Parts: sequence; structure tokens; C-alpha cells
Amino acid sequence: MTRASSPARIHTEITGIVQGVGFRPFLHRLAVREQLTGWARNTPAGVELELEGEEAAIRRFVQTVKTAPPPLAVVEELHLHQVAPHGGETGFVILPSTAGTAATLAAPDLAPCPACLKELYDPADRRYRYPFLNCTDCGPRFSILRALPYDRANTSMADFAMCPDCAAEYSDIRSRRYHAQPDCCPVCGPKAFYLDGDGKQQEGDPIALAQQALAAGKIIAVKGTGGIHLACDARNEAAVRRLRRRKHREEKPLAILCRDLETVEGFCSVTDEEQRLLQSPRRPIVLLEKRHFHGPESFSCLSENHRIGVMLPYTPLHVLLADGSFGGPAAMVMTSANLPGCPVMLDNAEAVAGLHGVADGFLLHDRPIVNRCDDSLAAVWQGREYFFRRSRGYAPQPLTMPDASADGILAFGAEQKGGFAAGKARHVFLSQHIGDLKNAETLDHYRTALQTCLRLFGVRPRALVCDLHPEYFSTAEAKRAASAMQLPLLQVQHHWAHMAACMADNRLDGRVFGIVWDGTGLGTDGNIWGGEFLLGDLHSFRQVGSIRTIALPGGDAAVRQIGRTALSLAWDAGVLPIPMPQLQTLPGRETLLAMLEKDIRCPKASSIGRLFDGVYALITGRTQAGYDGQAPALLEALAEPETAGRIYPTAYQTGTDGVRRFDTRPMIAALSTDLAEGVPAAAVARGFMDTLCRMALEQCRALNPDKLPVVVAGGVFLNLYLLRGVTRLLEAEGYTVYSHHRVSTCDEGIALGQLAIAARHFHQ
Ligand code: ZN
Ligand code: ZN
Ligand code: FE
Repeated sequence: MTRASSPARIHTEITGIVQGVGFRPFLHRLAVREQLTGWARNTPAGVELELEGEEAAIRRFVQTVKTAPPPLAVVEELHLHQVAPHGGETGFVILPSTAGTAATLAAPDLAPCPACLKELYDPADRRYRYPFLNCTDCGPRFSILRALPYDRANTSMADFAMCPDCAAEYSDIRSRRYHAQPDCCPVCGPKAFYLDGDGKQQEGDPIALAQQALAAGKIIAVKGTGGIHLACDARNEAAVRRLRRRKHREEKPLAILCRDLETVEGFCSVTDEEQRLLQSPRRPIVLLEKRHFHGPESFSCLSENHRIGVMLPYTPLHVLLADGSFGGPAAMVMTSANLPGCPVMLDNAEAVAGLHGVADGFLLHDRPIVNRCDDSLAAVWQGREYFFRRSRGYAPQPLTMPDASADGILAFGAEQKGGFAAGKARHVFLSQHIGDLKNAETLDHYRTALQTCLRLFGVRPRALVCDLHPEYFSTAEAKRAASAMQLPLLQVQHHWAHMAACMADNRLDGRVFGIVWDGTGLGTDGNIWGGEFLLGDLHSFRQVGSIRTIALPGGDAAVRQIGRTALSLAWDAGVLPIPMPQLQTLPGRETLLAMLEKDIRCPKASSIGRLFDGVYALITGRTQAGYDGQAPALLEALAEPETAGRIYPTAYQTGTDGVRRFDTRPMIAALSTDLAEGVPAAAVARGFMDTLCRMALEQCRALNPDKLPVVVAGGVFLNLYLLRGVTRLLEAEGYTVYSHHRVSTCDEGIALGQLAIAARHFHQ
């Protein structure tokens, strides 16, 4: 014995996203640094390794693997076993992968890492200003993936043969590009090109040409990671208006891509947490508060809201395009290039043909997009992501569940914001952003994405689950699949699924009190729900509270023509004639009133979403909704400046069904009086939302006396004023409140709840 401590040896298995993310080179570097010997190899389950050396060094090694893995890696489990030391090993080696190697997980697309950015700007580097450089820590992944295992031949990089320089890096364990499947350079990799509005290729540096076009106020199509965007200079109001007109997107907010954080901070206030999210390699669009709600830097033609969606460049191509020293704009509008209602375009030829007359130029490249993946959109809430849309940078990274009970469950989601969930062992794979399934092309996207998910991750469905609504396209898909595959199908009530989604998101299992507010969903009684208070768990639930139903003259027409809902609320509350001139002159007013009186073609909904529509129309006099979710978003914006607090009266009735309903009439009457007396819209808007928060508390007191954990879900809670208000009031009274942070609170996230309920239903 010549050494103070005898060598130890461990055998380790690591699972998670540990393949195709530079994990083995990372282990190699670490082993060399800690002077450990041994080996590592890929297995079907993840990475397996043995280490021998000083015990303290092994401990440091394991700690680093757990706390500071490569940026794309996710270490889920790390099992350690002591084994007998071999002695006599000389180094750390990478062994060939074990037979049948198939990574079960795939990484999302990530923004360029600092090392790649450095090369991008180094004139001496062979990848200087090369828009497709990447390494094992960054670059395209899911969007180029055709099949697993994640090898170049299974990606859309298969057609690009590596040059000798790239091949040398690829096989050198010390290189940052060791086994980087999309590795490429200007010699061997994809190329960008610029086409004019007629699709004719232009001579010259494609990025410079695109920058010139943007500077001239033109609208250009830009091929990104998971789809093609339309871009224009965000500070050129005429260009923005032209883009809106051409895209038939008059009111819906537009997101922007900013050159750097400094630019963002010029017109938005950015918290530390928001900054971290903006700069994270996932690069979602982050919803930020504008510094000035009015005035020159308010970007009011991008978003009439007090918030604006902002992202930083998420590929080297976007970094170069936004580079000011080469003439790029500091802020660009980035909106998906699509035909109205259709999914974002992927294909060069499709874009050139489909965007004729919309785009004045095209900045494209020859690396095909395999999987469509829109930009993610998130706000920061309680220090974490609060998703409006979970897609690029996140999909197809699965959620990990406490157990494998959801294995083989396939959930089909809702409709207007389609999305599915598939269980495989302890993982749940959620679809990227899909869109409204009522559109045929979007339904195709949904089907393709679903098949891709099943194939890539080897999900073998054993049971299916969908919404209760018989007319959802997702329900039809589920029924077709159930009969084709001879599998059992469970149909789950919409708001229970919302509640279960929030439970699964927070790993809750027992009984909870659910506050689920959204636009519409079919209730178990055949009525339209959307302002619900539920008691239950993953086995069963009961509707215990709701709101007084709102009559919707003409049904679906009232969802767009929100003046009708306003009229209905005012009629119901007995405050006609109401003071809003727009409602006095509402087209077909007399007919609508007759329909209400006689209860003809007036379906009823207990929906907070519809209540928002109506109150928004009363407050602003706007009688048409510009886009889905506009009313909650704009009332939030209206209420934001500090205004005198007021609470409108609340009242409740318990029906023969035992459901305690919030009576909207006293509130509507008081709010109408305020409006008639000239109380500012901001104060009324805030009063309305504060009253809803108060109502949530009063319902919780009455219906949740045991103080069960409260879960808050549904699309209405994309309104952060409401989310914050409800959370604060309930927490102040000692309730524990949970909201979403891994999936969206809107219908996009509902598949997770369906899956959680089905996992329980189909267990054993
Ligand atoms: Zn990199
Ligand atoms: Zn090369
Ligand atoms: Fe919903």
C-alpha cells in the first residue's frame, strides 16, 4: 500500500436525454480531469459507465453529472453500484454502443451555444458567418429528425456528406463536435439563398440581401428551425401594417425578435427571471411588460396589449440577420407564414407559391424541415415558465411521471387548441403546437405529428382517451383509432380533464378543489360549461359550483359578435336600455331581444370566457371579437394601471342539482351604472376582475371547507391579473394553490389531464 486511500470502482446507469447531446465526450472530459479510468457506452436505456480512481474524485464526478450536465442533456436517474476495482486500466474509453441501441428520448431544437457564437464571429474560423454551424451542445434536433436512433442518416442532414475536416471533428472525442449529427461547415453543409418576390434567386450574400429588403420596409419570408416566418422591421409602422393587411391579421398581437437583451430592455421591463428565460437555449417567445403603454416605443401596432411577445435570435441565421453591424434591424416582427387557419409552412416551394403577393422576398435554405414546430410562448409566473404554447425548444422532451401507469395511454386532447399526449413507461410525450383542428390542413398536421410521436418513441397504445364532446375532430379521430386498433376508449369531461392536467402538472394525486374557467366545454349534463368549481380526484369528480348561465343569441355567432353577449347580460340583469350607444344600434337588436325573451336559438353557457366577452363589449363598446382570447387579454391590459379598487356585489343561488351558482346580475347591474355615470373603463375593468377573484374566494370558502388543495386551470387563466388575484386571495386564507408550469393552462394542455384520468381508469 503506497497510497493513502485505496481506489474505488463504481458501475453507473444514467437515464434521461443523454444521447445525441454530447454526453459521452462530457464524461470523457470529466474523467480525464478527475484522473479516473474506466469506460462509457450508449445502451438502449441511456448511458452506462464504470469509473475507477480516488473515491473523492468519483464523488465529484457524479456530482458534476447531476448538477452541471451538457446544456441539452437531462439526467433523470443515476444508479450507482460499488464494484471491485480492476487495477491496471490506463485511461477512460468510449466503448461501442450495445446492440439494439435506440434512444428513447430526443432532444429539442436549441439556440447556438456561446462557443459556436464565438466561431460565428471569428474571421479566422472556417465557420465564420456560417448560418448553420452547431455542435453537440446546440443546434437543430427534433425539427430535422426522421427516426431514432439519432444518427445523421436518420435526419434531414443525411443528404449532406461531411467534408474531411468535419468528419475529423466528428470522430474526435476531444472535439466539441464529437458525434454531433448535424455537424457541417460552408464546404459541406446547407446553404442559404435569397429569392425575390417572384421566387427568382438573387446574386449576392443572401443575408445582406434580406437585410436590405427589411431596411427598405419590405416583408420577407425567413426559414427558421421548425417553420417559415414572415418578418419585417418592427419599428417601421407602415411595414407592420402592410404585413397585417397581407396576412389578414388585423388585431392579433405580433411577436418580435430582438437583436439582443439591450434592445429588449429599451422598451420592455425585464425581470431577472424573464431575462433567464429569454436567454435560455430553449429561446421561447417571452411575454414582457412594455415600459410605455402609450407613445412612440409602445409598439401599439404590434400589440394593443400592455405586454408584447419577445424572443432573442434562436439560430445562427437569425443572429446574423439581426446583426446591426451588417445592417440588420434591432427588432423584427416574426410571425408564422401560413394561410389563414393553416399550420405554418415548411417547404421552400410551398412558401414561394403560397406567399406570392404576401412576401417581397425569401431567405431560405436547403436543409429540409422534417417536424413542424412553432415558436413556444410563455410568461414568467412564480419564477417559472407559464406556457401559452409549449413547442420549439421543449417538444419532444417528455414529462416524467411518478410511475408508469400511463404507459400505452394515448390522449387526443380538445379541438380549438389541439394537442395530444402519449404515455411510454414513465414518460409522457406531448405534441408540439398544433392549432385549430377544424381546419383540414391543421387536422393533417395533428395526424402526422401523432403518427410521428408513436413511431419515434415506440409508443404502443393500449387504451385511448378523448373529450366528451361528440363533435370535436379529436373525438372523431379517437373513435376511428379505437375501432381500427380494437382498443378501449374513455371519454372524459372537459373541465375535469383541465383539473387533472393541472394535478398531473404538479404531481398531485389526492382529492382537490378545482377552479376551472375557460371558453367552452361540454358538461356532463349536456350544457356548455366554463366557470366551474369541481371537487374530486383522478377517479371521479363532482360539479359543486358554477356561474349563472349566459344566453348566447344565435349560439356560435355570439362568440365572434360579442355585442350579442353584452346585450344578453344586460337584458338578463334588467338594465336595458343600456348606456352603450354601440349596443343601442347593434344590428338585429330587436330580433336578438325577441330571441332572448322567447328563448329561441339561445344556447346557454356557464362560461367565464363568455362573461369576459360580454363585459369587454359593455366596457369598450366593441361589438366584434378580433381573435380568440382577446377580451381577457385586453381587460387585463385596461386594468393594469393603478386604479381605484372596487368590488361589485356578489350573490349566489344553489339549484336543485346542488350546484352553487354565482349570480352575475347584481354585478352587471352595478357595473352598468358605473359606466353610465362615466366611471373610467380602467376602473370598471379592474373592478370586474377583482369581483371575479372575490367570487372565487367566496365559492372556495363555501364549497371547500376542508381546505383541500386548490388547482386553478383553464384558458381564462392566461389572464395573469386574474391568476395572480385568485392565487393571492386564496393563499391569504390559508389555501394551497396550484397552477400550471409544465404544460399550458389552455386546451393545448388538456391531453395531459385526459391521460392522467385514463391511467387511473385503465389501471390493472
Ligand atoms: Zn454549439
Ligand atoms: Zn464540412
Ligand atoms: Fe377548455
